Amino acid sequence: MPTVSLSFRNRGKVKQVCRICRELGEIKAERLCAECVRIKSQISVRFAEAVRGTIAIPAERRCERLGCSCGACDGRTLDTHPLYLFDLAGADQREIHFHPRCHELWLEAVNGLNSGPEQAIDIIQG
Ligand SMILES: [Zn+2]
Ligand SMILES: [Zn+2]
Ligand SMILES: [Zn+2]
Repeated sequence: MPTVSLSFRNRGKVKQVCRICRELGEIKAERLCAECVRIKSQISVRFAEAVRGTIAIPAERRCERLGCSCGACDGRTLDTHPLYLFDLAGADQREIHFHPRCHELWLEAVNGLNSGPEQAIDIIQG
């Protein structure tokens, strides 16, 4: 659903739809609801190295298990979801599971949001 509305700059308590979780609520930073802002900031704290680009981010996999603990919000997963297997320095492998919603926030955190959310087609990786 393309919503091209660059005109709203309200900082008041206007209810809007969060662009990640589609919940109607009070929008905080980056057109995210309070919950998504909280999750995204947790991601940048917990995975600071990945966000800064210090460690390589492995390919995304699908996890079919239920009840994994989400690496971003600590909630339980209810459906198939993205999974990353990080190879850490000590030959340790760390599994990071994400809710689909938390995964979108994760992608934003590691890829940056400098090009603007409405221009996804024009974004060239690298
Ligand atoms: Zn949200
Ligand atoms: Zn999982
Ligand atoms: Zn989550």
